[in-house]
Amino acid sequence: MKGKIVVIIYALIIVLIISAIGALPSLFWNASFSNYLVTFFILTALQLFIGNLWNYFVDQKNKLQFEQVTVANKLTDSIQYLKTICAYCGTSNLVKIFINENNTYVCEACKQKNSIQIQTSSARITKPIMPKAELAEIFNKLDNKG
Ligand SMILES: [Zn+2]
Repeated sequence: MKGKIVVIIYALIIVLIISAIGALPSLFWNASFSNYLVTFFILTALQLFIGNLWNYFVDQKNKLQFEQVTVANKLTDSIQYLKTICAYCGTSNLVKIFINENNTYVCEACKQKNSIQIQTSSARITKPIMPKAELAEIFNKLDNKG
């Protein structure tokens, strides 16, 4: 918060300096201090307007990028891997499943195209008997065996 205020103050100082220097020609033109002040305020307003416009576009760009990343994350979250048995030859295949699509795959062994039917079932929510770290170790060992 304190850093933000310092940045805002520095930015304001820079804007005011640019306005003060930019308005100098109007001072020499008519030797009129009111001309100088009017030019000074117009330049200040113009800089603030352009700065806000710039910030708006940067914000929009950041929002768009954030949304793209969010969508990409959701997509990868919805991918599951499933071991499934080929309907033609009975070979087990590891298949990528997309939750919201019709899933098909080609069997590694017989090269036949399979369709995947997803069934759901309910289960009671239980507490793990083993601590999480211990369970993770066991799963790692199982994964290494294939
Ligand atoms: Zn097969």
